[in-house]
Amino acid sequence: PSGAEPATKIVINLERLQQLPAEKVGPLARYAATIQSQRGDYNGKVLSIRTEDLRSLAIIYDMTPGELTERMIDWGVLPPEARPSKED
Ligand code: C2E
Ligand code: C2E
Ligand code: C2E
Repeated sequence: PSGAEPATKIVINLERLQQLPAEKVGPLARYAATIQSQRGDYNGKVLSIRTEDLRSLAIIYDMTPGELTERMIDWGVLPPEARPSKED
């Protein structure tokens, strides 16, 4: 990595997402399903989303993007390598 960007790749594990109860992951699951629909991308085991989408989702969950990332790692929806830098 070159250093200018906090290069956090957001690659959602769709199989794991589908295993989790809707009351936990409902907004995230709907957001991911909408992106799949807009792309016509239904066959993947994972879904890469925009950094900007993480910011929108964090507002929905009333968290910072870093806190939501931690939550998604706890859920197993993101791999631990997705953890952002502390100053995010
Ligand atoms: P990668 O980004 O490490 O992705 C590895 C594999 O994860 C992809 O293999 C694909 O099977 C899956 N994957 C990741 N994100 C998505 C997603 O949003 N939807 C779906 N359906 N699958 C996803 P694949 O397709 O053979 O791509 C291999 C590599 O080619 C990727 O590695 C990436 O380096 C490059 N690539 C493929 N598509 C794109 C793209 O749209 N943009 C860029 N920059 N690179 C791409
Ligand atoms: P759009 O934002 O006008 O993007 C048009 C096309 O540009 C996309 O078609 C895609 O081929 C390409 N594109 C735009 N940004 C990126 C990017 O960061 N990486 C890659 N690999 N390609 C990019 P596509 O995929 O058929 O998406 C159609 C429309 O669906 C998009 O129009 C956008 O409105 C929506 N969409 C798709 N995926 C996402 C997403 O992850 N987040 C958001 N917010 N919208 C998305
Ligand atoms: P990627 O395709 O490897 O793109 C990496 C970054 O390059 C994107 O990060 C974005 O900052 C920039 N980028 C790539 N293509 C475009 C474009 O057409 N327009 C603009 N304005 N910027 C572009 P970002 O946004 O965080 O997206 C992360 C990953 O999410 C992308 O990696 C791609 O795998 C996926 N993605 C995002 N938007 C779309 C989309 O509309 N369609 C598809 N198929 N994939 C998308």
